[in-house]
Amino acid sequence: MSYRVTLLPGDGIGPEVTKAMRACVDATGVKINWDEVIVGAPAIEKFGTPLPQAAIESVKKNKVAIKGPIETPIGKGFRSVNVQLRQELDLYACVRPAKYIEGTKAVNTKVDIVIFRENTEDLYAGVEFDVNSPEAKHLIQEINKVSVKKVREDSAISIKPISIFGSERIIRYAFEYALKNGRKKVSLVHKANIMKFTDGLFLRMGQKIALEYAGKVTFEDVIVDNMCMQLVQKPELYDVLVLPNLYGDIVSDLCAGLVGGLGIAPGANIGSAAALFEPVHGSAPKYAGQNKVNPTATILSAVMMLRHLGEMDAARRLEKAVCDVIKEGTDVTYDLKADRNDPGSVGTQEMAAAICKKLKQ
Ligand code: NAD
Repeated sequence: MSYRVTLLPGDGIGPEVTKAMRACVDATGVKINWDEVIVGAPAIEKFGTPLPQAAIESVKKNKVAIKGPIETPIGKGFRSVNVQLRQELDLYACVRPAKYIEGTKAVNTKVDIVIFRENTEDLYAGVEFDVNSPEAKHLIQEINKVSVKKVREDSAISIKPISIFGSERIIRYAFEYALKNGRKKVSLVHKANIMKFTDGLFLRMGQKIALEYAGKVTFEDVIVDNMCMQLVQKPELYDVLVLPNLYGDIVSDLCAGLVGGLGIAPGANIGSAAALFEPVHGSAPKYAGQNKVNPTATILSAVMMLRHLGEMDAARRLEKAVCDVIKEGTDVTYDLKADRNDPGSVGTQEMAAAICKKLKQ
């Protein structure tokens, strides 16, 4: 059986880590026809947009895609391609496992958490109005008419939409995952003590859905600031986390830090019509083109993709090969060495070659 998968190399370190990933996936023996489409900086140069329609069409057609990171210029220019892709394809569930791998510089060796981040709403929805814009002024006037709490006139405005529909589907997805994968507990993370309506709605949806899983999966809710402290001190208490978009973004980086950094943290964005796999890390522009960074996060994202395709044996073999190479600690990138300046560290493609070699042993 062969599969057609869209490959979006991205920019910055994206092309390097996706090249390494592709070599490893091909070495598993699973037949994949890669439909490669440029996005990000190279697409701006060629087509004048970082997200050509061809990229969206390819993902829609193939239903499975894997991508490298893409730079988002801060405060100006184009909207985040990553956010746009998630919204255009309605990839509502961002799934990020954080699990200790022996040989990494993990802060805590007991971490085995899967994070479900809502991907389409919240402050990330992109409903923003710049300071002094006519839209912001109009909104501020209207808000000040209906709200007891007043907004300063020289404010920029971001809107935080949290819906019943959006909350229900991500929370249900997290519970279903827990049930199917033998996970015991879902912790819903919020700040409903302050944001009583938006986070309050997310919490109430969780409490309601949890009743359907009573006796099978335990449910608890934890306030986001407390959760950050708990995760640093006692991460072994947590199993499956479900969070609105912004907290999910921040807490998943915290968990990536607990298990040894962004270089090894994989992720997936899942919707009903398509699934897009990508590392948690960004385009790390200062390392671009140096064959230096760790390809593990992208390769482990491909492991998630293989599982999604039903290629369980190939996924297990590839994951084991990655873990074996990291455990041996020889053919690994600088960030996995005890001393980051260790002259014995290898490049991105060399680490991938060591993983391919392990696969064939
Ligand atoms: P980043 O993740 O790109 O890099 C932060 C640091 O993490 C790097 O300097 C490096 O020290 C380390 N790092 C990241 N990936 C690594 C790897 N594979 N191996 C070893 N070390 C690694 O975060 P940033 O600097 O905040 O963001 C850079 C750009 O990437 C921004 O434009 C941001 O918007 C974008 N970004 C894109 C995505 C995405 O495409 N999904 C995600 C996050 C950030």
